[in-house]
Amino acid sequence: MTHQAEIISIGDELTSGQRLDTNSKWLSEQLGLLGVKTAFHTTVGDSMADNIDAFRTAARRADIVIASGGLGPTADDLTREAVAQAFGVELEIREEALQHIESLFAMRKRPMPERNRSQAMFPVGARIVDNPHGTAPGIDFCPSLDHYPEGRPSRIFALPGVPAEMMQMFSAVVRPRLMQEMGIGKKRWMFHSLKVFGIGESDVEKLLPDLIARDRDPVVGITVSKATITLRIAALCTDDAEFRTKIQPTVDEIHAQLGLLVFGEGEIDLHDAITELMKDKKKTLGLIEIGSGAWIQQSLAPLSESRSSGLQVSSWLPAIESLASFSPSGFEAPRNDPPESRINDDVVKLANAAEIIRRHHDLDLCLAAGVYPAKSEIQAAQSLPACDISFALARRDQNVIHTRTTLGAHPDVLYHRLAKAGLNFLRLEMLRNG
Ligand code: ATP
Repeated sequence: MTHQAEIISIGDELTSGQRLDTNSKWLSEQLGLLGVKTAFHTTVGDSMADNIDAFRTAARRADIVIASGGLGPTADDLTREAVAQAFGVELEIREEALQHIESLFAMRKRPMPERNRSQAMFPVGARIVDNPHGTAPGIDFCPSLDHYPEGRPSRIFALPGVPAEMMQMFSAVVRPRLMQEMGIGKKRWMFHSLKVFGIGESDVEKLLPDLIARDRDPVVGITVSKATITLRIAALCTDDAEFRTKIQPTVDEIHAQLGLLVFGEGEIDLHDAITELMKDKKKTLGLIEIGSGAWIQQSLAPLSESRSSGLQVSSWLPAIESLASFSPSGFEAPRNDPPESRINDDVVKLANAAEIIRRHHDLDLCLAAGVYPAKSEIQAAQSLPACDISFALARRDQNVIHTRTTLGAHPDVLYHRLAKAGLNFLRLEMLRNG
């Protein structure tokens, strides 16, 4: 039987935007690990009518409902009352909960304010979820079947909003109850990612039409971050071995369709892939970026600075004017450009700089990137900024090669995409020619 969950986050501080709802994220991840899909996140303010509505709606469409917040002692803490009213039961005082709250105050050598008694009130029939670290015990409640004339019943948990208390109570009580009493968690969601660069999201989908279908098992999802595409394969399995066997045909299919566009598997980005290649092939690398943008250098810097990495990356950031001072290295103008063109001129300068620096410092490779567009230029662009960029790569005992590409992206992403285009040029060259 598959289960479906809804998470309810309660509090004006959440609906007003004052505070970020991190509880839903955490709870969904935890449920996912147990194989339970969270179908809805609901955020509701401190209004009784809205809370009642939220609980009733959630119980209708999900068989596991986990709420957080609103269990405090003040007048705006409505969760106990809302659960009771939503499902037509009274609240009753529970002595064991009251004793726990009194003992916490006694330990702190303070009298218990009368208002805190309300925290020991529970909907009739509910079980207590102990809260060892706070005065707000949680609620574990199964509304009567009258509330589900046409559906299956729902199990409702209400936990405090304080993230540390909520997490502890979920781990110590809610998770074990879900596993033992609802048979959840025998299988859990497991994930594996393949990382792709050099193609757009929709083109990936076109190349893999059968893999992206929503009802597929394993499921494959596409997300994009800073111009890197992640294909995340997910499957509900009992252990690693079952997971590997289940996803292998999908992994093979992705590699077969996308080839070198896939640069790695797992939690890696393009600069990690380059680092691995450089270590494998024992290459030394020089990087030249012109003017003020050092995007490639920045992405490789943390790796090359770490002594244990064994990487040797040297960086230069010459001003554009000084490029002219690199005397010709024998690089020939690319034939496909008209000889008088500016593009041609730039590429020759880049290539000369790369080869001269490479030779002078006795490096295996030296990558030079053309001038990045100025921030003000791309921010002023009316539509999606696009720009041309050239890269030249000098190689020991081989000709300098170059590439020129036009890339467009949102201003926040454009520089990452430009830098990754350079890194990918380098990666493909190392893969093809050692
Ligand atoms: P307590 O009585 O212990 O305060 P409570 O159940 O009444 O618990 P709230 O008063 O709603 O919980 O929230 C307590 C704290 O937890 C607040 O600082 C609040 O901002 C934070 N909090 C509540 N809900 C969330 C959430 N969904 N994500 C992150 N933080 C939250």
